[in-house]
Amino acid sequence: MSVTLDEDGGSDQALADRLSAVRSAVADALRAASRDADEVTTIVVTKFHPESLVRRLHALGVRDFGENRHQEAEAKASATSDLELRWHFVGQLQGNKAKRVRRYASVVHSVDRISLVDALSAGSPDSEHKSLECFIQINLTQDPHRGGAIGDDVERVAERILAAPELTLRGVMAVAPLDEEPRAAFARVAAISERVRSIAPEATSISAGMSSDFREAILEGATHLRIGTAITGNRPTAG
Ligand SMILES: *Cc1c(COP(=O)(O)O)cnc(C)c1O
Repeated sequence: MSVTLDEDGGSDQALADRLSAVRSAVADALRAASRDADEVTTIVVTKFHPESLVRRLHALGVRDFGENRHQEAEAKASATSDLELRWHFVGQLQGNKAKRVRRYASVVHSVDRISLVDALSAGSPDSEHKSLECFIQINLTQDPHRGGAIGDDVERVAERILAAPELTLRGVMAVAPLDEEPRAAFARVAAISERVRSIAPEATSISAGMSSDFREAILEGATHLRIGTAITGNRPTAG
């Protein structure tokens, strides 16, 4: 799989080639895991890339997009509101931004504390507002300052989401730590997912796997991949 260093996704052909290379690598991993081809959703993370890249990816059939900063996500979602897209918020989220994130995001992958559950469920604008899909982010590192719930907090956050009528618990999300074999890290995520399913049987989704480790994530049961650079090429600025 070749990744060009072009700042805005490269030529249309290069972008299409990277997307199809990722799609076939995903299909290979699913076959290796004896899983069905439709069991995985690939979210393309477009952070730091312009709206034009979202439009080019949409033209190639992509409908699920991920962003990790509220301001950028809000601007891009608004600039592409003529397209039918699903925005996935995947970054750390401050409670005071929660209400605004709800306006454009279909899914939040980074719900990691009770106060954020309350902020996301407070004062939903109107009853027609669609239920917000939530993943509980798990912190797999030893560093408590990293995003993500640890230990019993996972179950506490799950119960709070289940009690909020405006929210739907989809499952768990994690980023593999840099100092751990990804497969081992994702096996831990699978075990935590089982714990969550014991109190929320419908919460079967697992958001795991990025450009460098999506194969390992698929082998450990990931259902939602968050892939940036392997599809978009390098980001214009570090991120
Ligand atoms: C940026 C980001 C990704 C995508 O990372 P790549 O390595 O570019 O695939 C996935 N998940 C989160 C939470 C991110 O912030």
